[in-house]
Amino acid sequence: MKFGFDIDDTLINLRGYAFSIYNKKLNQKNALDVFEELKTVEIHHPFGLSDQEGKEMWNSSLEEIYFTSCPPYPKAVETLQELHQQGHEIYYITARPGEHGERTMEWMIQQGFPVEEDKFFCGMKDHEKVKIIEELGLDYYFDDKPSVLETLSSDTLKVFVRDQSYNRHYKAERLTDWGELKGILMEKNSR
Ligand SMILES: [Mg+2]
Repeated sequence: MKFGFDIDDTLINLRGYAFSIYNKKLNQKNALDVFEELKTVEIHHPFGLSDQEGKEMWNSSLEEIYFTSCPPYPKAVETLQELHQQGHEIYYITARPGEHGERTMEWMIQQGFPVEEDKFFCGMKDHEKVKIIEELGLDYYFDDKPSVLETLSSDTLKVFVRDQSYNRHYKAERLTDWGELKGILMEKNSR
C-alpha cells in the first residue's frame, strides 16, 4: 500500500512548538489550553499580534520552528517505521516552501522517520497537493487541513484528518492518536 502524509501538524506538533517559541520570544505565558482551543491555523491572536505582525513573527521565527526540536506526535515515528518495515511505501507531501525541502527531509530523517528521497515532495501550495497525490496513486492520505482534504475525492484514496482544534467541523475519518492507526487499518482490512 501507498501511504501519504502531510508533515506539519499531522506528524509533528509544529504549531504547538511555535506557540512555545512565541511565548519565550515575546515574554508571555499563554497557557496550553489557550492553544488547544484555537479555531485558526494561525497562532498569533492570543499574543495580541495583528495578522501582519503574526505573519512577520512566523517568518522571523521560521528557522527555529522548522529546524530545532519540534516534537513529532507520540507514536508517529514508530507507526511509520512499522508500516515501512511491513513493505508499505511512505510518501511525504508538504507545502513548506521549496527552499526548505532538502533540510526538512534531513530533519525528518534525524527524527527517525523513514524517508526515501524519491518519496519526498515539498513546495507545492495546499491546493496543488491534489495533483501529486493523484499522480502517486496513494491508497491513504493524512492531513490536518480540511482545505487540502476537500480537494481529494477518489474511490480508491482513503483520507484521514489528523485531529486539531481548527478542523473539528470537518467530516472525515479522524485520527487523534498515531498509536491507533494500526488497529484502524487492521479493522479495515478484515472487512
Ligand atoms: Mg499540515
